[in-house]
Amino acid sequence: MSTPSDYYETLGVPRDASDDEIKKAFRNLARQHHPDVNPDNPEAAETFRVVAEAYEVLSVTETRVQYDRFGHAGISGAGGGGGAGFGNLDDILGMFFGDGMFGGRGARRGPQAGPDAATAISLTLREAAVGVQRDIEVEIVAPCDRCAGSGAEPPTRPIPCPTCGGLGQVRQISNTPLGQIVREMPCPACRGRGATVETPCSDCRGQGKQPERRTVSVGIPAGVDTGQRVRVVGQGHAGDAGAPPGDLYVAIQIEDDPAIEREGLDLHVLVDLTVTQAMLGATVHVPTLEGTETIVLQSGTQPGDRRTLRGKGMPQIGNENRRGDLHVLFAVHIPKKLEPTARLLVEELDKAIPEDAYKTESGFFNRVRRGFSGG
Ligand SMILES: [Zn+2]
Ligand SMILES: [Zn+2]
Repeated sequence: MSTPSDYYETLGVPRDASDDEIKKAFRNLARQHHPDVNPDNPEAAETFRVVAEAYEVLSVTETRVQYDRFGHAGISGAGGGGGAGFGNLDDILGMFFGDGMFGGRGARRGPQAGPDAATAISLTLREAAVGVQRDIEVEIVAPCDRCAGSGAEPPTRPIPCPTCGGLGQVRQISNTPLGQIVREMPCPACRGRGATVETPCSDCRGQGKQPERRTVSVGIPAGVDTGQRVRVVGQGHAGDAGAPPGDLYVAIQIEDDPAIEREGLDLHVLVDLTVTQAMLGATVHVPTLEGTETIVLQSGTQPGDRRTLRGKGMPQIGNENRRGDLHVLFAVHIPKKLEPTARLLVEELDKAIPEDAYKTESGFFNRVRRGFSGG
């Protein structure tokens, strides 16, 4: 705490000011420097504190007399009997507004942060693999332009709520046979905000907020998957004046890829071979995230054969160097119709290929033949 300035000067009243003049001066200054009227303004908050401190001393006959005689030295240790915690804003406000119906002590509820907003976007698998920066349009509740979120018609400003004296809370005192019960609750007049407007803004009708279409740039990290959400801090709905907005959550949907199936970090691709490709060997182009990969197949490729392309799968979020694999599964297609010439050739082929040639280590065909021959 810095050296306190003269309390009469702080309130702008003469040394012989009446109680009413002091009260009036405080009321005006409190309106001007109230934290709810000056959100995010530490200077105003400090002025408000000093003004409250001056009022606390000068509004009570005993402390005012002490202050008049001894200055600040007279009151720094004199707070004892009255129970007024010196410099405590809630106490001084409680005293000030104690002459009305309600007093106020304890913590205020304060302005509420804005709710989170949500939207969804869909990406191709290839976009998900590299990550993208997307501009997405969202409809959110934003601070009103006209009143800058205060809810007060310019050039008026919000004032401390007269019901709760700007505390946002009211005390309800009930006398019961067991004694006095004091309850604190959010002020019903200002809904706990502590401030109110006399002339509501004509655009937002005093709400301080209005719907707005906004384009938000969202960075989607490489490796995202369906069902995950990306959080954009501070792009949610507006909060009360002086409170931060919520966040925006973007739900991710990955579109089905016509060629590639995803399973976590791994990818699966099915490659169809003709029967002659499978028999003779072939060079095939396998779809990958980057484009295609050329694979050379030896003769005698079996249906169900697999090839694994290491590190050609999806990257791990936050660690793009770690990637899954791409698994290639081969299928073999048999022609459904044969022209007479082709049929003759296949019949020749059948005679030319000895049964031994079909034997494979664990071949599908072999197993089926064994099954049929009752083995
Ligand atoms: Zn407005
Ligand atoms: Zn209130």
